Amino acid sequence: MTLRNNAKDDTIITHAGRDPHANYGIINPPVYHASTIVFPTVQAMEEAQKRRFFAYTYGRHGTPTTSALEEAVARLEGGWRAIAVPSGMAAIVGAIMGFVKAGDHILVTDNVYAPTRKHCDDVLRRFGVETTYYDPRIGAGIAQLFRPATKLVFTEAPGSHTFEMPDIPAIAAAAHKAGIKVLMDNTWATPLFCKPFGLGVDVVAHAATKYIVGHSDAMLGIIDCTEETYLTVRNAVAQLGYSVGPDDIYLGLRGLRTLGARLRRHQETAMTLARWLKARPEVERVLYPALPDDPGHAIWKRDMTGATGLFGVVLKPCSKKAVAAMLDGLELYGMGASWGGYESLILPSHLEGIRTATTWPAHGRTVRIHAGLEDPDDLIADLECGFERWRAAA
Ligand SMILES: *Cc1c(COP(=O)(O)O)cnc(C)c1O
Repeated sequence: MTLRNNAKDDTIITHAGRDPHANYGIINPPVYHASTIVFPTVQAMEEAQKRRFFAYTYGRHGTPTTSALEEAVARLEGGWRAIAVPSGMAAIVGAIMGFVKAGDHILVTDNVYAPTRKHCDDVLRRFGVETTYYDPRIGAGIAQLFRPATKLVFTEAPGSHTFEMPDIPAIAAAAHKAGIKVLMDNTWATPLFCKPFGLGVDVVAHAATKYIVGHSDAMLGIIDCTEETYLTVRNAVAQLGYSVGPDDIYLGLRGLRTLGARLRRHQETAMTLARWLKARPEVERVLYPALPDDPGHAIWKRDMTGATGLFGVVLKPCSKKAVAAMLDGLELYGMGASWGGYESLILPSHLEGIRTATTWPAHGRTVRIHAGLEDPDDLIADLECGFERWRAAA
Protein backbone atom coordinates (compact mmCIF):
# COMPACT_ATOMS: atom_id res chain seq x y z
CA MET A 1 0.00 0.00 0.00
CA THR A 2 1.25 3.50 -0.70
CA LEU A 3 0.80 6.00 2.09
CA ARG A 4 0.10 9.62 1.25
CA ASN A 5 3.16 11.83 1.27
CA ASN A 6 1.78 13.88 4.13
CA ALA A 7 0.74 10.90 6.29
CA LYS A 8 1.31 11.63 9.97
CA ASP A 9 3.57 9.59 12.22
CA ASP A 10 0.91 7.43 13.88
CA THR A 11 -0.51 6.54 10.48
CA ILE A 12 2.97 5.63 9.23
CA ILE A 13 3.56 3.50 12.34
CA THR A 14 0.29 1.67 11.69
CA HIS A 15 0.51 1.19 7.91
CA ALA A 16 4.07 1.54 6.58
CA GLY A 17 5.85 -1.58 5.37
CA ARG A 18 2.79 -3.74 4.83
CA ASP A 19 0.31 -4.47 2.10
CA PRO A 20 -2.43 -6.90 3.19
CA HIS A 21 -3.96 -7.19 -0.28
CA ALA A 22 -0.69 -8.42 -1.73
CA ASN A 23 -0.81 -11.12 0.95
CA TYR A 24 -4.29 -12.75 0.93
CA GLY A 25 -5.66 -9.84 3.02
CA ILE A 26 -3.54 -10.88 5.96
CA ILE A 27 -2.66 -7.86 8.11
CA ASN A 28 0.95 -8.70 8.98
CA PRO A 29 3.70 -9.36 6.44
CA PRO A 30 4.72 -13.02 6.08
CA VAL A 31 7.83 -14.24 7.91
CA TYR A 32 10.14 -15.62 5.23
CA HIS A 33 12.72 -18.10 6.46
CA ALA A 34 15.41 -18.11 3.79
CA SER A 35 19.04 -18.70 3.07
CA THR A 36 19.04 -19.82 -0.59
CA ILE A 37 17.00 -17.83 -3.06
CA VAL A 38 16.77 -19.49 -6.48
CA PHE A 39 16.44 -18.03 -9.97
CA PRO A 40 14.85 -19.59 -13.06
CA THR A 41 17.57 -18.52 -15.50
CA VAL A 42 21.18 -17.32 -15.59
CA GLN A 43 19.93 -13.99 -16.88
CA ALA A 44 17.45 -13.53 -14.04
CA MET A 45 20.15 -14.40 -11.53
CA GLU A 46 22.63 -11.96 -13.03
CA GLU A 47 20.08 -9.18 -13.14
CA ALA A 48 19.21 -9.66 -9.49
CA GLN A 49 22.90 -9.73 -8.55
CA LYS A 50 23.47 -6.49 -10.44
CA ARG A 51 20.73 -4.85 -8.41
CA ARG A 52 22.36 -6.30 -5.29
CA PHE A 53 20.73 -4.65 -2.26
CA PHE A 54 17.68 -3.66 -4.27
CA ALA A 55 16.72 -7.27 -5.07
CA TYR A 56 16.50 -10.46 -3.01
CA THR A 57 19.56 -12.56 -3.76
CA TYR A 58 20.54 -14.34 -0.57
CA GLY A 59 19.04 -14.72 2.90
CA ARG A 60 21.87 -12.89 4.63
CA HIS A 61 21.02 -9.70 2.75
CA GLY A 62 17.37 -9.87 3.72
CA THR A 63 13.97 -10.94 2.49
CA PRO A 64 10.64 -9.12 2.06
CA THR A 65 10.19 -9.52 5.85
CA THR A 66 13.37 -7.50 6.39
CA SER A 67 12.32 -4.87 3.85
CA ALA A 68 8.98 -4.41 5.62
CA LEU A 69 10.69 -3.32 8.84
CA GLU A 70 13.37 -1.30 7.04
CA GLU A 71 10.77 0.54 4.96
CA ALA A 72 8.58 1.35 7.95
CA VAL A 73 11.42 2.68 10.11
CA ALA A 74 12.97 4.72 7.29
CA ARG A 75 9.59 6.23 6.48
CA LEU A 76 8.91 7.15 10.11
CA GLU A 77 12.34 8.65 10.71
CA GLY A 78 12.64 10.40 7.36
CA GLY A 79 15.58 8.33 6.15
CA TRP A 80 16.11 7.25 2.55
CA ARG A 81 16.58 3.58 3.43
CA ALA A 82 17.19 1.64 6.63
CA ILE A 83 19.20 -1.52 7.27
CA ALA A 84 18.24 -4.08 9.90
CA VAL A 85 21.16 -5.55 11.86
CA PRO A 86 21.35 -8.03 14.75
CA SER A 87 21.69 -5.54 17.66
CA GLY A 88 22.12 -1.90 18.57
CA MET A 89 25.86 -2.44 18.93
CA ALA A 90 25.94 -4.00 15.45
CA ALA A 91 24.21 -0.85 14.16
CA ILE A 92 26.84 1.38 15.77
CA VAL A 93 29.78 -0.74 14.61
CA GLY A 94 28.38 -1.22 11.10
CA ALA A 95 27.74 2.50 10.67
CA ILE A 96 31.22 3.49 11.89
CA MET A 97 32.93 0.81 9.76
CA GLY A 98 31.45 2.28 6.61
CA PHE A 99 33.38 5.50 7.03
CA VAL A 100 36.80 4.78 8.56
CA LYS A 101 40.11 3.23 7.56
CA ALA A 102 43.54 3.00 9.21
CA GLY A 103 44.97 6.46 9.81
CA ASP A 104 41.55 8.11 10.24
CA HIS A 105 40.32 10.04 13.24
CA ILE A 106 36.82 10.21 14.72
CA LEU A 107 35.17 12.42 17.35
CA VAL A 108 32.88 10.76 19.89
CA THR A 109 30.76 12.39 22.58
CA ASP A 110 32.16 11.91 26.09
CA ASN A 111 28.82 10.67 27.49
CA VAL A 112 28.46 7.95 24.84
CA TYR A 113 26.94 4.52 25.55
CA ALA A 114 29.82 2.70 27.27
CA PRO A 115 30.12 -0.27 24.84
CA THR A 116 30.46 2.24 21.97
CA ARG A 117 33.44 3.79 23.81
CA LYS A 118 34.87 0.31 24.31
CA HIS A 119 34.61 -0.42 20.58
CA CYS A 120 36.47 2.81 19.78
CA ASP A 121 39.16 2.30 22.42
CA ASP A 122 39.74 -1.35 21.56
CA VAL A 123 38.76 -2.45 18.03
CA LEU A 124 39.13 0.88 16.24
CA ARG A 125 42.40 1.64 17.99
CA ARG A 126 43.81 -1.79 17.00
CA PHE A 127 42.91 -1.07 13.40
CA GLY A 128 44.61 2.34 13.43
CA VAL A 129 41.58 4.60 13.87
CA GLU A 130 42.06 7.23 16.57
CA THR A 131 39.18 8.51 18.73
CA THR A 132 38.98 11.88 20.48
CA TYR A 133 36.17 12.35 22.99
CA TYR A 134 34.45 15.72 23.13
CA ASP A 135 32.35 17.63 25.64
CA PRO A 136 28.69 16.85 24.84
CA ARG A 137 27.88 20.57 25.17
CA ILE A 138 30.61 21.62 22.71
CA GLY A 139 28.24 22.80 19.93
CA ALA A 140 29.94 24.65 17.06
CA GLY A 141 33.19 24.60 19.07
CA ILE A 142 33.68 21.05 17.78
CA ALA A 143 35.38 22.60 14.72
CA GLN A 144 38.46 23.18 16.89
CA LEU A 145 38.89 19.42 17.21
CA PHE A 146 38.79 18.69 13.48
CA ARG A 147 41.95 17.37 11.85
CA PRO A 148 42.61 16.60 8.18
CA ALA A 149 42.09 12.90 9.05
CA THR A 150 38.75 13.40 10.85
CA LYS A 151 36.03 11.39 9.10
CA LEU A 152 33.17 11.10 11.53
CA VAL A 153 31.48 12.84 14.47
CA PHE A 154 29.50 10.46 16.68
CA THR A 155 26.62 11.99 18.67
CA GLU A 156 24.06 10.60 21.09
CA ALA A 157 21.07 12.54 22.41
CA PRO A 158 20.60 12.59 25.29
CA GLY A 159 23.79 10.85 26.42
CA SER A 160 23.59 7.52 28.20
CA HIS A 161 23.23 7.86 32.01
CA THR A 162 23.81 11.64 32.30
CA PHE A 163 21.15 12.72 29.79
CA GLU A 164 22.89 15.89 28.57
CA MET A 165 21.55 17.22 25.27
CA PRO A 166 24.08 18.07 22.55
CA ASP A 167 23.42 20.84 20.03
CA ILE A 168 23.34 18.50 17.02
CA PRO A 169 22.45 21.13 14.38
CA ALA A 170 25.48 23.23 15.44
CA ILE A 171 27.76 20.16 15.47
CA ALA A 172 26.46 18.97 12.10
CA ALA A 173 26.83 22.38 10.44
CA ALA A 174 30.48 22.57 11.54
CA ALA A 175 31.15 18.98 10.47
CA HIS A 176 29.61 19.38 7.03
CA LYS A 177 31.64 22.54 6.38
CA ALA A 178 34.72 20.35 6.87
CA GLY A 179 33.35 17.42 4.81
CA ILE A 180 32.87 15.25 7.91
CA LYS A 181 29.90 12.88 8.32
CA VAL A 182 27.69 12.92 11.42
CA LEU A 183 26.38 9.74 13.02
CA MET A 184 23.76 9.78 15.77
CA ASP A 185 22.64 7.12 18.23
CA ASN A 186 18.90 7.91 18.37
CA THR A 187 17.89 4.99 20.60
CA TRP A 188 16.47 7.12 23.43
CA ALA A 189 14.12 9.30 21.38
CA THR A 190 13.31 6.63 18.76
CA PRO A 191 12.35 7.49 15.15
CA LEU A 192 9.09 8.87 16.54
CA PHE A 193 10.32 11.61 18.88
CA CYS A 194 13.44 12.74 16.99
CA LYS A 195 14.02 13.19 13.25
CA PRO A 196 17.82 13.37 13.06
CA PHE A 197 18.09 13.93 9.29
CA GLY A 198 16.35 17.28 9.79
CA LEU A 199 19.07 18.19 12.31
CA GLY A 200 21.83 17.49 9.79
CA VAL A 201 22.68 13.92 10.75
CA ASP A 202 23.92 11.64 7.91
CA VAL A 203 23.49 8.20 9.49
CA VAL A 204 21.32 7.12 12.45
CA ALA A 205 21.89 4.04 14.60
CA HIS A 206 19.19 2.49 16.79
CA ALA A 207 19.12 -0.18 19.42
CA ALA A 208 15.70 -1.39 18.23
CA THR A 209 16.12 -3.86 21.11
CA LYS A 210 14.77 -1.06 23.30
CA TYR A 211 11.52 0.70 22.30
CA ILE A 212 10.97 -0.60 18.77
CA VAL A 213 10.93 -4.25 19.86
CA GLY A 214 9.51 -2.94 23.13
CA HIS A 215 8.85 -6.21 24.93
CA SER A 216 12.29 -7.28 26.24
CA ASP A 217 12.35 -10.34 24.02
CA ALA A 218 14.55 -9.73 20.96
CA MET A 219 17.86 -8.12 20.07
CA LEU A 220 17.70 -5.88 17.01
CA GLY A 221 19.44 -2.89 15.47
CA ILE A 222 18.56 -0.46 12.69
CA ILE A 223 20.83 1.82 10.70
CA ASP A 224 18.94 4.54 8.89
CA CYS A 225 20.70 6.35 6.04
CA THR A 226 20.42 9.21 3.58
CA GLU A 227 20.58 8.42 -0.13
CA GLU A 228 24.19 9.58 -0.08
CA THR A 229 25.30 7.34 2.80
CA TYR A 230 23.19 4.24 2.14
CA LEU A 231 25.45 2.14 -0.09
CA THR A 232 28.56 2.93 1.97
CA VAL A 233 26.87 1.56 5.08
CA ARG A 234 25.03 -1.23 3.26
CA ASN A 235 28.31 -2.58 1.89
CA ALA A 236 29.97 -2.40 5.32
CA VAL A 237 27.05 -4.32 6.87
CA ALA A 238 27.25 -7.01 4.16
CA GLN A 239 31.01 -7.35 4.56
CA LEU A 240 30.72 -7.63 8.34
CA GLY A 241 28.45 -10.61 7.76
CA TYR A 242 25.50 -9.32 9.77
CA SER A 243 22.18 -11.04 9.32
CA VAL A 244 18.96 -10.89 11.35
CA GLY A 245 16.67 -13.88 11.81
CA PRO A 246 13.19 -13.32 10.37
CA ASP A 247 11.41 -14.02 13.65
CA ASP A 248 13.31 -11.19 15.32
CA ILE A 249 12.47 -8.88 12.43
CA TYR A 250 8.84 -9.86 12.92
CA LEU A 251 9.05 -8.96 16.63
CA GLY A 252 10.51 -5.60 15.61
CA LEU A 253 7.63 -5.00 13.21
CA ARG A 254 5.06 -6.06 15.76
CA GLY A 255 6.62 -3.79 18.39
CA LEU A 256 6.75 -0.86 15.98
CA ARG A 257 2.97 -0.91 15.44
CA THR A 258 2.32 0.15 19.04
CA LEU A 259 5.32 2.47 19.42
CA GLY A 260 3.26 5.67 19.49
CA ALA A 261 0.78 4.43 22.09
CA ARG A 262 3.50 2.96 24.29
CA LEU A 263 5.87 5.92 24.13
CA ARG A 264 3.23 8.44 25.12
CA ARG A 265 2.46 6.39 28.20
CA HIS A 266 6.17 5.86 29.00
CA GLN A 267 6.65 9.62 28.68
CA GLU A 268 3.71 10.50 30.90
CA THR A 269 4.75 8.09 33.64
CA ALA A 270 8.40 9.14 33.45
CA MET A 271 7.34 12.77 33.90
CA THR A 272 5.12 11.86 36.86
CA LEU A 273 7.95 9.92 38.51
CA ALA A 274 10.54 12.61 37.68
CA ARG A 275 8.42 15.36 39.25
CA TRP A 276 7.71 13.27 42.33
CA LEU A 277 11.38 12.35 42.71
CA LYS A 278 12.55 15.95 42.31
CA ALA A 279 10.47 16.96 45.31
CA ARG A 280 11.89 14.21 47.54
CA PRO A 281 14.39 15.15 50.26
CA GLU A 282 16.57 12.13 49.34
CA VAL A 283 17.07 13.39 45.75
CA GLU A 284 19.65 15.93 44.65
CA ARG A 285 18.76 16.13 40.95
CA VAL A 286 16.70 14.40 38.30
CA LEU A 287 18.36 14.05 34.89
CA TYR A 288 15.58 14.29 32.32
CA PRO A 289 15.62 16.87 29.53
CA ALA A 290 11.82 17.08 29.46
CA LEU A 291 11.90 18.80 32.89
CA PRO A 292 11.66 22.57 32.33
CA ASP A 293 14.66 23.35 34.57
CA ASP A 294 16.93 20.68 33.05
CA PRO A 295 20.02 22.27 31.45
CA GLY A 296 19.22 20.48 28.16
CA HIS A 297 15.54 21.43 28.12
CA ALA A 298 15.72 24.19 25.48
CA ILE A 299 17.61 21.97 23.03
CA TRP A 300 15.34 19.02 23.76
CA LYS A 301 12.28 21.16 23.08
CA ARG A 302 13.77 22.48 19.85
CA ASP A 303 15.00 19.13 18.46
CA MET A 304 12.59 16.47 19.78
CA THR A 305 8.84 16.11 19.96
CA GLY A 306 8.74 13.91 23.03
CA ALA A 307 10.68 12.29 25.84
CA THR A 308 10.77 8.58 26.55
CA GLY A 309 10.76 6.64 29.79
CA LEU A 310 14.45 6.59 30.70
CA PHE A 311 16.00 9.10 33.11
CA GLY A 312 18.59 9.47 35.85
CA VAL A 313 18.25 10.31 39.54
CA VAL A 314 21.16 11.77 41.50
CA LEU A 315 20.68 10.88 45.15
CA LYS A 316 21.83 12.97 48.12
CA PRO A 317 25.20 11.76 49.42
CA CYS A 318 24.69 8.28 50.87
CA SER A 319 26.40 4.92 51.22
CA LYS A 320 26.45 2.19 48.61
CA LYS A 321 24.63 0.11 51.19
CA ALA A 322 21.74 2.58 51.29
CA VAL A 323 21.30 2.40 47.52
CA ALA A 324 21.36 -1.39 47.67
CA ALA A 325 18.80 -1.40 50.50
CA MET A 326 16.53 0.81 48.43
CA LEU A 327 16.86 -1.12 45.17
CA ASP A 328 16.97 -4.68 46.52
CA GLY A 329 13.49 -4.49 48.04
CA LEU A 330 11.67 -2.94 45.10
CA GLU A 331 8.78 -5.07 43.94
CA LEU A 332 7.92 -3.60 40.54
CA TYR A 333 11.28 -2.43 39.21
CA GLY A 334 13.48 -5.07 37.66
CA MET A 335 17.21 -4.69 37.97
CA GLY A 336 19.09 -5.37 34.78
CA ALA A 337 20.62 -4.03 31.60
CA SER A 338 18.59 -2.78 28.66
CA TRP A 339 15.27 -0.90 28.77
CA GLY A 340 12.40 0.00 26.49
CA GLY A 341 10.16 -2.92 27.45
CA TYR A 342 6.75 -2.59 29.10
CA GLU A 343 8.21 -3.13 32.56
CA SER A 344 9.87 -0.67 34.91
CA LEU A 345 13.57 -1.03 35.61
CA ILE A 346 16.13 0.51 37.91
CA LEU A 347 19.89 0.20 38.30
CA PRO A 348 22.83 2.04 39.83
CA SER A 349 24.68 4.11 37.19
CA HIS A 350 28.44 3.90 37.40
CA LEU A 351 29.69 7.25 36.20
CA GLU A 352 33.11 7.18 37.88
CA GLY A 353 36.19 7.00 35.67
CA ILE A 354 34.33 6.73 32.36
CA ARG A 355 34.77 10.24 30.96
CA THR A 356 38.05 11.45 29.57
CA ALA A 357 37.25 14.85 28.01
CA THR A 358 35.06 16.20 30.79
CA THR A 359 34.22 15.49 34.41
CA TRP A 360 30.72 14.78 35.61
CA PRO A 361 29.97 17.31 38.37
CA ALA A 362 27.22 15.51 40.33
CA HIS A 363 28.68 14.04 43.48
CA GLY A 364 25.79 11.87 44.65
CA ARG A 365 25.23 8.27 43.69
CA THR A 366 23.06 7.98 40.62
CA VAL A 367 20.41 5.48 39.62
CA ARG A 368 18.78 5.08 36.23
CA ILE A 369 15.05 4.42 36.03
CA HIS A 370 13.02 3.12 33.13
CA ALA A 371 9.36 4.05 33.63
CA GLY A 372 7.31 1.11 32.41
CA LEU A 373 3.61 0.78 31.65
CA GLU A 374 2.50 -0.05 35.20
CA ASP A 375 0.18 2.32 37.06
CA PRO A 376 2.28 5.32 38.16
CA ASP A 377 0.71 5.33 41.65
CA ASP A 378 2.01 1.81 42.25
CA LEU A 379 5.44 2.77 40.92
CA ILE A 380 5.57 5.75 43.30
CA ALA A 381 4.41 3.67 46.28
CA ASP A 382 7.19 1.17 45.55
CA LEU A 383 9.81 3.95 45.42
CA GLU A 384 8.45 5.46 48.62
CA CYS A 385 9.07 2.18 50.47
CA GLY A 386 12.50 2.15 48.83
CA PHE A 387 13.32 5.55 50.30
CA GLU A 388 12.29 4.31 53.75
CA ARG A 389 14.86 1.51 53.43
CA TRP A 390 17.38 4.05 52.06
CA ARG A 391 16.96 6.25 55.13
CA ALA A 392 17.18 3.30 57.52
CA ALA A 393 20.46 2.20 55.91
CA ALA A 394 21.96 5.68 55.19
C1 LIG B 1 21.23 -0.57 24.46
C2 LIG B 1 21.88 0.52 23.69
C3 LIG B 1 22.71 0.22 22.62
C4 LIG B 1 23.04 -1.20 22.22
O1 LIG B 1 21.97 -1.93 21.81
P1 LIG B 1 21.99 -3.55 21.85
O2 LIG B 1 20.81 -3.94 21.07
O3 LIG B 1 21.92 -3.91 23.30
O4 LIG B 1 23.28 -3.98 21.23
C5 LIG B 1 23.23 1.28 21.92
N1 LIG B 1 23.01 2.55 22.26
C6 LIG B 1 22.23 2.88 23.30
C7 LIG B 1 22.00 4.31 23.63
C8 LIG B 1 21.64 1.88 24.06
O5 LIG B 1 20.89 2.19 25.11
